Amino acid sequence: MAQIDNLPPLRDVIRQHGLNAKKTLGQNFLLDLNLTLKIAKTAGSLEGRTVVEVGPGPGGLTRAILAAGADKVIAIEKDQRCLPALQEIADAYPGKLDVIDADALTVDMTTLVSGPARIIANLPYNVATPLLINWLKTDPWPPWYESMTLMFQKEVAQRIVAEAGEKAYGRLGVLSQWRTDAFIAFDVPPSAFTPPPKVTSSIVHLVPKDAIVTADAEAVENLTAAAFGQRRKMLRQSLKSLEPEILAYLEDVGIEPTERAEQVPVPAFLALAQMLSRNG
Ligand code: SAM
Repeated sequence: MAQIDNLPPLRDVIRQHGLNAKKTLGQNFLLDLNLTLKIAKTAGSLEGRTVVEVGPGPGGLTRAILAAGADKVIAIEKDQRCLPALQEIADAYPGKLDVIDADALTVDMTTLVSGPARIIANLPYNVATPLLINWLKTDPWPPWYESMTLMFQKEVAQRIVAEAGEKAYGRLGVLSQWRTDAFIAFDVPPSAFTPPPKVTSSIVHLVPKDAIVTADAEAVENLTAAAFGQRRKMLRQSLKSLEPEILAYLEDVGIEPTERAEQVPVPAFLALAQMLSRNG
């Protein structure tokens, strides 16, 4: 394995600091620094960039992001046991690593960065989707970040990129594709993690679109919740509770009332959400 820095191997770091993985914190660590470097490089150039990393743990991905040339890493970690290990990385890269001891779900990330920033994270599975949704709903748009390079369970990754007509298409796909161009970069097998999770994971790279259809995020969410909440029903039925006159709205935007949610492409959902919130 090629050396990416002069710090000790991650297995030694974990042993030395007693970082036995906690399930409640979604801790599945990546110990192969070549793999973490591959993830960091998927984000694109890090030169001159600030990177926000959620859940650095013992620091495998953090080290790769720094080795790949990031100007600054702001790493948010909830498990205080990891702080001494992260301090060793901060000492090896003076002035380049700030560790924030907090729950990422409660941190206002817009206040953390001033220049161009990327988000890179091997997210804990239990907070991955709420964090992504928060980042996607950032206001104003374009957002404070240039890209997000994130690890998800493969099944969630497929939902992010699925298009109309595909089985995995749903609320997450509509929200993600409304605001970003997203693709699955590569899969990561369970054996790459310590301890290995039960499922395959995937790295997803999302780049915010410069210009997006103007719609109220709340309206889009309410609409897709109603539509996909009863995905087997025709839209004239599933959306009736949202708007009694739904037939007229569907006709106005050119959606057949007999269609089901999974058949409706993202732009049509956005047009319908726009119209519903305009007249609501
Ligand atoms: N980045 C490391 C790696 O790739 O090996 C660790 C990844 S592990 C899947 C997830 C990390 O997120 C753990 O270090 C865990 O303690 C941390 N974490 C869990 N919930 C968190 C939260 N709400 N806010 C910040 N960090 C959290």
